[in-house]
Amino acid sequence: MARSVNTLLDQAAAGERISAEEALELYRHAPLHALGEAADAVRRRRYAGVEHIATYIIERNINYTNVCVTACKFCAFYAPPKSDKGWERDLDDVLRRCAETVELGGTQIMFQGGHHPEYGVEYYERMFAAIKQAYPMLVIHSLGASEVQHMAKVSGVTPKEAIERIRAAGLDSFAGAGAELLPARARNAIAPLKESGERWLEIMEIAHNLGVESTCTMLMGTGETNEERIEHLRMVRDVQDRTGGFRAFIPYTYQPENNHLKGRTQATPLEYLRMIAIARLFFDNVNHIQGSWLTTGKEIGQLSLHYGADDLGSVMLEENVVSSAGAKHRSNLLEMIHLIRAAGRVPAQRTTTYEHIRVLEDPADDPVDDRVVSHLSSIAVEGGGVVESRRMLKVTPVG
Ligand code: SF4
Repeated sequence: MARSVNTLLDQAAAGERISAEEALELYRHAPLHALGEAADAVRRRRYAGVEHIATYIIERNINYTNVCVTACKFCAFYAPPKSDKGWERDLDDVLRRCAETVELGGTQIMFQGGHHPEYGVEYYERMFAAIKQAYPMLVIHSLGASEVQHMAKVSGVTPKEAIERIRAAGLDSFAGAGAELLPARARNAIAPLKESGERWLEIMEIAHNLGVESTCTMLMGTGETNEERIEHLRMVRDVQDRTGGFRAFIPYTYQPENNHLKGRTQATPLEYLRMIAIARLFFDNVNHIQGSWLTTGKEIGQLSLHYGADDLGSVMLEENVVSSAGAKHRSNLLEMIHLIRAAGRVPAQRTTTYEHIRVLEDPADDPVDDRVVSHLSSIAVEGGGVVESRRMLKVTPVG
């Protein structure tokens, strides 16, 4: 017999596994605040002893090229091959961005770009080896199954060989980008040239089995149904039951500008909060749920910490991909710390693997470096870019 919404919420809050059907029932019908309370109860139990803490990381997205053959309809970042809007960053430029990241206390690089028709495994080997040699302290948390599929095809090797080679060159873990929506109809509607959702998961499973962990994202608001949102969660949880390799689940919302979907649909803040809560209740096998302030706004980011999220992601020293599609939110380290405090949590800077680097129990100990701002160098914002960031930081170019 089907359980009532209240019974389901109580059982989920107590830690009982819920099915995809039950998750859909809760997603659709549970009262918002009760849903948040249940998810928060799960979060507090999972982090007993440190449940008063919410984490953030300082990282830099380095966009190495916008040239891409995959032409996703929701994407405002890419340029097709031969377009005069296409660009590529050379190794010196990439290393200079790494130098700035280290100088500002960043610990992680997210290398992110288009599916360039000429970039095979060798390109990433060269980049990662050079980054690791110059900045061994930086964690390369980058790429994902889509890039692996593409580089393996360009180089004529298997995804397994591609992963082994880029890991040997310096890759530490995969970011979960490219998951978009995993169910076939929703994925084909927005990214018809991307590998299937099953293939994306297969490649992540290969990586996990090789010891390369990852995170996993979900893009909300491109016209998918509630069933498809929950099916995305189910597909991820099934793989996670086998591998345990997903460290975190990161839903974020579609940004409507400058892309072929033309903003026809978008996820509302309440839908987003419901998803954060359902994810915390459904993923009894994923450690971390990240709230996205970049796409949903700072207040929703704060609220997500009361709906099951334990992490607010990053102060991004550079971001171009979702900013190109209209994400306007910017932050800096001091504001990130304030947002977390004002949400009733103690901020802690974390590593890629979620160890605490600095727990800011006492506001008197807060860092005072106001240079650590999101998008300090970004082609997507006015005043961003190479020249500006050099002037601001007085960093000697490397390489
Ligand atoms: S989302 Fe990635 S793969 Fe898709 S068009 Fe944009 S850059 Fe290319």
